[in-house]
Amino acid sequence: MLRSIILFWFLSNKIRKEMINKCLCLLVMVVFANNLAFCQVKDPKLTEVWYPEPSVVTPGNTLTAAPSDAIILFDGKDLSKWHKPKYAYGGTMQETAEILTAKINYPEFSAPEWIVENGEMIVKPGGGAIETKQHFGDVQLHIEWLSPKDEGKEGQFYSNSGVFLMGLYEVQVLNSYDNKTYPNGQAGALYKQAIPLVNASLPPDTWQKYDIIFNAPRFDSDGKLTKTATITVFHNGVLIQNNTELKGPTIYIGPPYYVAHPPKMPLILQDHGDKVRFRNIWLREL
Ligand code: MG
Repeated sequence: MLRSIILFWFLSNKIRKEMINKCLCLLVMVVFANNLAFCQVKDPKLTEVWYPEPSVVTPGNTLTAAPSDAIILFDGKDLSKWHKPKYAYGGTMQETAEILTAKINYPEFSAPEWIVENGEMIVKPGGGAIETKQHFGDVQLHIEWLSPKDEGKEGQFYSNSGVFLMGLYEVQVLNSYDNKTYPNGQAGALYKQAIPLVNASLPPDTWQKYDIIFNAPRFDSDGKLTKTATITVFHNGVLIQNNTELKGPTIYIGPPYYVAHPPKMPLILQDHGDKVRFRNIWLREL
């Protein structure tokens, strides 16, 4: 009996010591973890991110001058960066879809017909659009344009042109200074899709500028849309499109919808029959 009592006491004492040791270990770990977390919160270096480093870009001498990494599309000298596309989008969605699906537009082009004088390029009415030889996806675009004063014109026929990102998504160019038209077709509208937030137009015969951030739409390998295109536009420095989502390509008649297309496509400037002038066109690929 005595041996049993001694054995029980010995075992229970051993178990008790082990439990005390385990508790002490646990306590030490908790204190250590708390101290570690406390140190982490207090150490500002732990939230410093050193890589990757942004590449160095030298800004232009003025707010409208091209930065060092920009692609100059028109510097006032010639149209060497442009040609004339054979096909024009923008009638109906069916026409646009057929052109995109068949891809019959890409190798078909000729020399641009627009006029270059005094450091400006001028639309040749009836001469057709011009498009860049180089293709682009996401871009930051700077472009300056001027609506010549013409008392005889009004509405959509007063200095209509357009900046077509990827040749498909139009930021409208129009004299919208004291010139009434449907708001989703005025200057800075994403034509027939989005009215500009405000009208920042200057009078005709005044140079105006668009600074555009364009994010191209994304499609999966089956051609299904995975991300809509978005456009941000500053008109003469004023925000008029704030990351606006496009519903599809710009078309004149009916509702648009997306049709899969290559990740990079040319920038197109529209000939709408008016002698709109352009200058200082550059972009940065994003
Ligand atoms: Mg237009």
